[in-house]
This record gives sequence, structure tokens and C-alpha cells, in this order.
Amino acid sequence: MDSQPLDSDPITGQKPSDHCAVIGVVGDTPVIDNIILGLRTLQHRGQESAGIAVYDGSIIKLKKGMGLVSEVFSHREQNLSGNFYGNVGIGHTRYSTQGSKNLENAGPFVVSSSTGYLAVSHNGEITNAETIREELKRKGSAFLTGSDTEAMLMEIARDVGELGIYPGLKIAMGKLRGSYSIALMINDTLYAIRDPNGFRPLVIGKVDNSYIVSSESCVFDVLGGEMIRDVRPGEVIEMTPKRYTTLFQIRPRRISHCMFEYVYFARPDSIIDNIEVFSTRIKLGKTLARESPVSADIVIPVPDSGRAQALGFAEESGIPYNEGLIKNRFSERTFIMPTQMERKTAVRLKLNPIRSVIEGKRVVLVDDSIVRGNTIKHIVSILRSHGAREVHVRVGSPPIIAPCYFGVDMKTKSEFIARSRSNESIREEIGSDSLAYLSIDGLVSAIGMEKDNLCLGCLTGKYPEPIPGQIKIRQSELENY
Ligand code: SF4
Repeated sequence: MDSQPLDSDPITGQKPSDHCAVIGVVGDTPVIDNIILGLRTLQHRGQESAGIAVYDGSIIKLKKGMGLVSEVFSHREQNLSGNFYGNVGIGHTRYSTQGSKNLENAGPFVVSSSTGYLAVSHNGEITNAETIREELKRKGSAFLTGSDTEAMLMEIARDVGELGIYPGLKIAMGKLRGSYSIALMINDTLYAIRDPNGFRPLVIGKVDNSYIVSSESCVFDVLGGEMIRDVRPGEVIEMTPKRYTTLFQIRPRRISHCMFEYVYFARPDSIIDNIEVFSTRIKLGKTLARESPVSADIVIPVPDSGRAQALGFAEESGIPYNEGLIKNRFSERTFIMPTQMERKTAVRLKLNPIRSVIEGKRVVLVDDSIVRGNTIKHIVSILRSHGAREVHVRVGSPPIIAPCYFGVDMKTKSEFIARSRSNESIREEIGSDSLAYLSIDGLVSAIGMEKDNLCLGCLTGKYPEPIPGQIKIRQSELENY
């Protein structure tokens, strides 16, 4: 297991990162263009690697590479002529939470079995992957990677091979623990499968004569189609060019949708479990303004993550909103820079204040979340050095105090500035005049879902699923490192 070094990027590297994006398309025409466009739409969910597997009528063709979707699949002619000419396929972008960062661990994963070819794209994290891997090894299976996704696929292939598709998938899902929203291809048929807790989003839709499963609904808008519905927790949907059918639904042990999808991960133009992400973020900002009002002259967001919450804060408080920080869009992938330059300079390269907007002003600085606090600390300092009279930090989610075991790269407790510290000591550290986080009740009411149907594990340290011992042991090894 590895954990993304949170200091790798001065802006995005400070945020918790989601595991992956998945897409699957089945139709009566070649699917490669829709898969590539869909993956590009979902690029925010993972920038480390991209991959596509297409069934061409006899075998599955696979290509994956490190980098952005546009880099890995840059030439349409090559994509089509490169044996990607098929009417069913799946795609994947990755941001690792388990397995090392190399091509071997990139998705999709493909295996040839007695059932034929199976390929899977996975968003989430299988918490009992090591147990599954060891059991399968004892039965003779061999593994090429340390990926939890490979362990899951091998389990599915074995159970489906022994029992058939319907009972095999049911048995495999009974063994898997943790989070998995997957696009699974078994020969020419596509399956959309969501774990019984429904941690990560998964939706199905229709574009022309194709059915599509995707991590987020914004894909259907971009492709000119429409969303049909969310895949329900524990549901397995079989998709062919002509129809989609629920094969079965495992009764959820407990529904626990990840609250961070609404706070930060998902695109604002997506709808997850019938709740629009953008309007939820506005509500988070409004609730924050009601809970922690402040006298100030201007509300500015940390771009882009705090923008919707800042709009909500401004609307509710009546304090004018303005863009006081300009983000450099063309230095997105400067991963090496922070190790070579002073961190403050690296933040400045990404974000520069507009002096006329902030000079002499009492500023409310809004971000969606704080993990380590380094970035917000430097932004506060930059705002002060550009003439801000006061800087009041408002955070559109509660303090993060505990690791995530369900597909987000927050693994070591030492990463969290808010762990075991008072609000006042955090305020002192980041150098703001005041600091306030959204409350857990405020978060839940803004999302508008039953509290019991949300995962709040990283906010409370109480998880909706037991965490297998090996993962905790690996975590303490990381902390002692
Ligand atoms: S622990 Fe936090 S980030 Fe992980 S699934 Fe739960 S709410 Fe989401």
C-alpha cells in the first residue's frame, strides 16, 4: 500500500485524492470514442494513469499508460487501428491508494478464464484484499501485482468460472469487503456493480444506441446522452446493446455514501444518489455562514476547490464575493517543483492574489477542506503580504481527523492538522485571525441525506465497516516510518 505524498503538489496535492474513475460502454457501434471522451470528463478522479480494454468479438484488447487520458490516448486513428475496434469496452483512470504507482497496477485489469475474458475497472478499495489474495494463492492462483483490484478480479473469475455468472458474482460479492464501484466486462457483456454500502458513486445512462456505466453523471451531459439512474448499493446490472437488467441486489449491510464526494471529489455538475453536487456545495457554504458568521468586507475562495462554498457563504452572509486569488491553469502537473523550490514560492506559482481586491480588506477565505494545513497557511501569509487587513478562514467541511480505508489516499494520522488539536492551536499555526469549520450536523443537513446513510469515518474515526487488522498494522508501520 502506498499513500500519495500530500506535499507533492502545492494545491491539489494537499487535498485528499480519490481512487479512480470508471466507465463502461456497450452499443452497436465502436465504443472507443465515447470511452476516451468519458475518461477525459472524469479526469479529475485520477491523473496518474489511464487505460482502456475493448472486446473486439474474439478477445479483449488492452492499452494502459502513465499520465493523463489525452496523453495515453492521443491519436484517434491509432486508437481505432490499434485493435480497439469493438462494441463493448471499459476505461479507467487511476490515483493509487493500494499497490505501488506503476503501470502494472494501472487499470483496467484483464484475465482469461474458463468463462472467457474478464476485465474490470474499479473505483474504491478492497479492505480484505490480502486475505483474498492469500486464499487464492493457496488454491493455486498466481498474481502479477499488489493491487486490490487484481485480487478482486481473480476472486470474481474463480467464482464465476465455478458457478456461472449470476451465482458466481453473488458469491464473490459476499466475500469482498470495502468499497467497489466497478465496470466489469465478461466477453461481450457489461456489468455495473456497486458495493452494498454504496461508498463510491456509480450511475448508468444512455447515449444514442449505447448504454454506459460511469463514476459520475456529468459524462452523459458531455456525450450528449442522458442519465438513467444511480446503481443501487449492492446492485448488479447487466448491460447489452439492447437493454439493461438488474441481475440481483444484495441487501445493504448499511448504506454509507462517502460525504467527501459532495464536499470535494465529484464534479459540481454531477448528480450523485439523486443529489446535485453544486447546489450541495452552495448549501455547505450557506450553513457555514450561519454557523460561524464574521464581520468582513469580502469573501474569496481558494480556487477552484472552495468556489461553490464561498458563493454560498457570500450569499448567506451578504458579504460581497470576489475572486482574490488567480490560479495558474498551466502549471497543473508540476509534481517535482515543491521538492526543488521553497514551498511558499511553489504556492505562489499556482496562486497569486489580486492586490486591488484584497488590500486593506477584512477577508473571509473559504476552502472546502483542510488536510495538512500547509497550503492554507501559505495562502493566509500571501494575503497578508498583499495588504489584507484581516484574514478569517472558513472551511466547508468538519475537521479531518482519521484515515480513510475506502478508496481515498488519507492513510496516516500524522497527515491531519486537526488531529488532537484545538481550533485555537490550528488557527495559530495557519496564522489567520479566526478559523471555523462546518459542523458534522451542518454537513449532514446540507447534503440532505440521513446521517446513518453517510460515511463520516474520516471525521469521527468510526467506520461503517470493520477495518481488517492487516490494514491497521500497515497503517501503524506507515506512521512509524
Ligand atoms: S472515510 Fe471519509 S473519505 Fe473515506 S469514504 Fe468515509 S467519508 Fe469518504
